[in-house]
Amino acid sequence: MAYQHSISKEKCKGCGICVSVCPKKVLEMSKEISSKGYFPAHQARPEDCIFCAICCTMCPDVAITITETADI
Ligand code: SF4
Ligand code: SF4
Repeated sequence: MAYQHSISKEKCKGCGICVSVCPKKVLEMSKEISSKGYFPAHQARPEDCIFCAICCTMCPDVAITITETADI
């Protein structure tokens, strides 16, 4: 099974918690401001993500989702 990790730019408030808790240092804060006026987190190194879901669990704004995708 494959997984997809996504961060909602609309929900993210740029707190940086996910960046600090990721054990693989996948995430960084964006340098581009969102429509809500925050600098959202993004996956700087998506190839390193192990889909552990720690970031999803810790995000206070439920901005991160990991979904299963069908293997092709
Ligand atoms: S799922 Fe785990 S490895 Fe992937 S970005 Fe979140 S905390 Fe990091
Ligand atoms: S923990 Fe959630 S709200 Fe905070 S920077 Fe990460 S995605 Fe954005």
